[in-house]
Formats: sequence, structure tokens, C-alpha cells
Amino acid sequence: MFDNLSEKLDSALHVLKGHGQITEVNVAETLKEVRRALVDADVNYKIAKDFTNVVKKKALGQDVLKALKPGQMMVKLVKDELTDLMGGEAEGINLSGDPSVILMSGLQGSGKTTFSGKLAKYLKNKKTKKPLLVACDVYRPAAIDQLHVVGEQVDVEVFSDKGNQDPVAISKAAIAHAKANGHNVVIIDTAGRLAVDEVMMTEISNIHNEIKPHETLFVVDSMTGQDAVNTAKTFNERLNFDGVILTKLDGDTRGGAAISIKSVVNKPIKFIGTGEKMDALDVFYPGRMADRILG
Ligand code: GDP
Repeated sequence: MFDNLSEKLDSALHVLKGHGQITEVNVAETLKEVRRALVDADVNYKIAKDFTNVVKKKALGQDVLKALKPGQMMVKLVKDELTDLMGGEAEGINLSGDPSVILMSGLQGSGKTTFSGKLAKYLKNKKTKKPLLVACDVYRPAAIDQLHVVGEQVDVEVFSDKGNQDPVAISKAAIAHAKANGHNVVIIDTAGRLAVDEVMMTEISNIHNEIKPHETLFVVDSMTGQDAVNTAKTFNERLNFDGVILTKLDGDTRGGAAISIKSVVNKPIKFIGTGEKMDALDVFYPGRMADRILG
């Protein structure tokens, strides 16, 4: 995960650690390298620039130059700032409803259906939760079948109504079914499209307005880099979602989405997907991710 970025940051900071004397000039040079590494990892230029400016200010403010181990202090400053940029403290999902309704949003192929299954399994393992998965893709019968396969894999009931073309009606019927059958979490998997379009946005907004979910999650493929951030922005403007799920972090992703998304939409990344299997889900901890990136 983020091997390229880690290597580049390591080499940028290594120069500083190796120097006998640290000067304002080589701090500036190091931070320029850090900025380049972030931009290469697909972090938006302005975010990368603001990031290094803040680190520089803090470094000079804290008298890093006179510190006993200035190199290590710089690494810590970069790590802390990276943690902040990715969201500070980890945040859970709102499960206060009975049933708690969780709405999945995102483009087709982002990993919504897979994540819905993973989340159902994760919650089911908590013992006090009895989830219900709901298939709301009224355009692709194959998507409904896929959710049934996922449901079987995690041993969670799936609610679907193949003849019904109205996702709001399906969602309402599913919530009624959940109440009648003791399900305390309802996970609604919605239809996505290959790119943002008005029909999809109107549909997901309608479901959101009518159902008033306790938690709306935006699922995005981390491999799509800056596009992931732009798509997040568009969905957030319409849905004001509660959190981001970043999938496919097990792939050859450069890291830009993980680093920038929080600062662009001001919503936390809540979980990450690290594989196709149903247990390949991790709670997102910004501090741990920063540790991983900086080695
Ligand atoms: P949806 O169209 O948004 O419902 O996306 P799917 O759940 O069908 O996922 C699209 C593809 O991405 C499938 O082949 C999944 O197996 C795969 N996928 C989903 N999440 C992950 C992940 O975290 N890692 C990897 N490697 N593949 C994933």
C-alpha cells in the first residue's frame, strides 16, 4: 500500500536525518521533496502546498533547527500533520436507530455491493446486530443477484423485489420487513453509474430525502486518484454524506485519495476495503495510516 509514496517520503526525510547540521535551507529543500512526493501520489497540488507550508511554519516555530534530534522531529511533524489531514481521530458509524438505516452511495464498480456485504458481516460479528441487506439497483438484475450471492457468503438475509422499479418503495418495504423480523440494521445498496449523471444523482437524493438514513456512506475506488476526490465532492454536495469508504487499497493505488478526501469534503474516511473477500475490511485510523506511509 502506497509503496512509492513511502519510498519517496523516506528518501526526502532521509537527507535531513543524515545532515550534520540542519538549516532553514535544507528544511525548505526537504519539504519541497515532500511536496513533490505528495503530488506524485496524486494529492492535489494546493493541498500538498498548504501541507508543506504548515509543516514548515511549525518546524520553524518549534525551533527544530536547535532540537537535539532535528531529523526525527521533522519526521514527527510530517506524521502528525498527515494524520490531521486524513482526519485525526477515527469515527464510527451511527447505529442509534432501530433499525439503523445505512445508505450506500457511489459510482458503479466502486465496490458498494462488496462493501455492503463486508459491513453486514462486520456488524453481525458484533452479536447484538442483525443486519438486513437491501438490493435497490432497479436497472441491473445482475446487481441484485450479486447482492444475493454476497448475502449468502456472509449469511445475512437479502431483501429484493425484482419487478419493482421504485427504489424508494423498495427501501420503505425493506425497513418495514426489518421491523417485523427483528433486524436492527438495514444496509441499502443503491444503483451506481459509470460516471456522475443527473438521473443517478436525483435517484439517490430522492432515496436519501425519503428514507432519512441514520448513516449515508460514500464508497469510492482509491485507484481512481483525483477523480475519487472530485466524485466525492459531487456526491457530498447532493447528499451531505456522513463518511467515506475507500476501497481497493490493496491494489497498486498511489494514495492521493486517502490523503486528500477528508480535506476536500470535510467528512471522515470510516472504513477501507483491502480485498475482494468478505473479511477484507478495516476501520480507518488516520494515525496508523500515517505511520504506515512514513514507515
Ligand atoms: P459496485 O458496482 O459499486 O457494487 O461494485 P462491486 O462491489 O461490484 O465491486 C466492483 C469490483 O471491485 C468487484 O470485482 C469487487 O470484487 C472488487 N472490489 C470491491 N472492493 C474491493 C477491494 O477492497 N479490493 C479489491 N481488490 N477489489 C475490490
